[in-house]
Amino acid sequence: MTARGLAFGACAILAGAPAAAHDDAALTDLDRRVMVELTGTRESSHAVFHFRPDGIDSKALDEDVAANVAYLAELEHTLRMGYHGHVHIFLYQDGEEMERLTEVDGAVAFATGTVSVHQPHDFRGVHELVHIFAVQFERDPDTAGADLFVTEGLATYLAKSDENVAIHAWAAAYAKLGVLPASLGDLRRTFPDGADKGVHAYHVAGSFVGFLVERYGIEKVKQWYVDSSEAHQYFGQGFARLEREWREFLQEFELTVGAEEHVLRKLGFLREPLPKEWANAKGTALFDGRTLAGLAPQDASKWSVKDGLLVGTNDGPWTRLATAKSFGPKIGVRAKLRLASGDALKLLVNGEREAIFARWSSYATAGEGFRSNDRVKIAPGEWVELVVVNDDGRARVYMDGLSLFDLPDVWNAAGEG
Ligand SMILES: [Zn+2]
Repeated sequence: MTARGLAFGACAILAGAPAAAHDDAALTDLDRRVMVELTGTRESSHAVFHFRPDGIDSKALDEDVAANVAYLAELEHTLRMGYHGHVHIFLYQDGEEMERLTEVDGAVAFATGTVSVHQPHDFRGVHELVHIFAVQFERDPDTAGADLFVTEGLATYLAKSDENVAIHAWAAAYAKLGVLPASLGDLRRTFPDGADKGVHAYHVAGSFVGFLVERYGIEKVKQWYVDSSEAHQYFGQGFARLEREWREFLQEFELTVGAEEHVLRKLGFLREPLPKEWANAKGTALFDGRTLAGLAPQDASKWSVKDGLLVGTNDGPWTRLATAKSFGPKIGVRAKLRLASGDALKLLVNGEREAIFARWSSYATAGEGFRSNDRVKIAPGEWVELVVVNDDGRARVYMDGLSLFDLPDVWNAAGEG
């Protein structure tokens, strides 16, 4: 179940058997119990709608029925299949009535059994209907079936967007912010748990399944859906490689500013701009774009200049590149860089005050120890702009304009910068 507040609902676990030829036999006990009160019906070629007579304004009901009939036609086209029999769609006056009659708590809408969808009458979107259609996907014996990751992934992708943000945009924003789950295999095993706080696992699964639909077509994805442990058989390559290619696709995805801001707000990140006087301050360039002039590497073999970029390569304990010159205790450093591979990098000011950017968390030194922020992390392969400032003892660290740390009095009594 998905908590209320998301635009789409979760489903109950679906039985794998195809719908019985006679629809009524496929109704669940829950359906029958609710039908005692929802005695009104309307029927279309592939749906039976149940509602409380006089419970829903008739014009609104016309619109609700028309919207769902259109979704069924859309899915027959998208999924390249004819639906056999009727979907039973239970329409409630509101979420409160649905919860009271079904005794299902906290769902926005849900599918149950093999032919039934329960939703507030004005619910829109194909998510739950996809679950019902998927029951009729052709399936051979000796196939593994769909796990929850694949089930919710397909339904979420075909619903196209959540909160008016496209499903790929959610995932691309998670990737850019470094909060995309590190392993889809691990996420599948614990789905829908296992993602960072605030990251919705449905968006992640939806984007991955959508990537496969766009690349291989819906027919292949349907075959894999019912045999979901066997990616290689249907796509010609294994899950790990598909995952890598999906991550590369997300890196190239053109994320709009509006979508990124929406995801940032949802995650509770504040995009706090750099103070104006810092943004406009005249700085000293530390790297001239051609040579290591003015820089003092701890180990010269680890640093080089290639195509105008300063490249550091190190496999082992930290190795340092310092400026030859000192700049006084109040100092800020700005760097545009990319963690091409590996685990972490750090920027130091005053020779000893550290901001560490690791794949799994960000850190700043504070007294004898560290403060951590595992919500904003560096994403390997992505260019980022880092700003680290010792503002009279106040540690301030930014990544792409996001404040990671603002810690008063932890970088006092610093030496020369
Ligand atoms: Zn679902």
